[in-house]
Amino acid sequence: MRAAVVPEAGADFELVDRPIPDPDPTEVRIAVDACGICHSDVFVKEGTFPGVSYPRTPGHEVVGRIDAVGADVTAWSEGDRVGAGWHGGHCFTCEPCRRGDFLLCENAEITGLTFDGGYAEYATVPSEALAAVPDDLDAVDAAPLLCAGVTTYNALRNSDARPGDVVAVVGVGGLGHLGVQYAHAAGFETVAVSRSPGKRDLALDLGADHFVDASETDPAEALQALGGARVVLSTAPSADAAESVVGGLGADGEVVVVGIPGKPVPVDAQHLVGTRGAVSGWGSGHARDSQDTLEFSDLRDITPVVETFPLDEVDAAYDRMVENETRFRAVLDLT
Ligand SMILES: [Zn+2]
Ligand SMILES: [Zn+2]
Repeated sequence: MRAAVVPEAGADFELVDRPIPDPDPTEVRIAVDACGICHSDVFVKEGTFPGVSYPRTPGHEVVGRIDAVGADVTAWSEGDRVGAGWHGGHCFTCEPCRRGDFLLCENAEITGLTFDGGYAEYATVPSEALAAVPDDLDAVDAAPLLCAGVTTYNALRNSDARPGDVVAVVGVGGLGHLGVQYAHAAGFETVAVSRSPGKRDLALDLGADHFVDASETDPAEALQALGGARVVLSTAPSADAAESVVGGLGADGEVVVVGIPGKPVPVDAQHLVGTRGAVSGWGSGHARDSQDTLEFSDLRDITPVVETFPLDEVDAAYDRMVENETRFRAVLDLT
């Protein structure tokens, strides 16, 4: 099979021919149709995550069909259409797993990081990491939903916001353009906050009720003018952007950070005390969360805006992502 491999931390991708891997007894093999390129793939490419061994094939937005099933796998069959996201499996025995909190498994596998991912024609994946992909959903559209999608969908649905509440999404990019769609579909009064005024029309098209141009307007003041936000989903990986919206929280409001800034976020504690507010974080979801995301996206016709590339152009696709030029998610199309 063809695979894009990072030979060692910091090295360029190599396109190689490799034997097609056989699944272990608790794994399945996926014939990959599409794999998204996520900013977290930088961890693998540059070696900035503990415990990555090389050579490694990245890719944690994997969509395809099962073409081989391990001997102990009973829940999945050859031919099933499946996806695998960041959460690449769990141990079932650590304390979080004993409580059913698989996302926080202390021994969690990560697709495309602790084992080879979807920048390849085939990938073997632990069966507990699989999400069923609805038939109607195109593989290229489904792929980014397995990381960018589940992260924003899961963060919003696990917040305390209710239909009609003011919910802001900071950043209209790879995560944010999905967050706006989920917030709208959930019935929230949806506010898109961006420093790029050129994204106004897109944000409104995606379902935002309001657009705040943060290059011109203080987003905290804009949110207070709307009554104060119940939830602000911070998708832009910027400490300044996250800080700038804390003052926009209303009663019991919460800034939920999903885009990780490279430095600490200073917080106005006085405003948090005055509103019983909070700044929290949310990461991704387990396989059933991913499947919920796919099913809800199918139900409400929510799709990512993507650029597609053949596997041979992985360098160009990755570079555009790193340079923040992708509109809005890059996907390798292996069909
Ligand atoms: Zn990701
Ligand atoms: Zn565990």
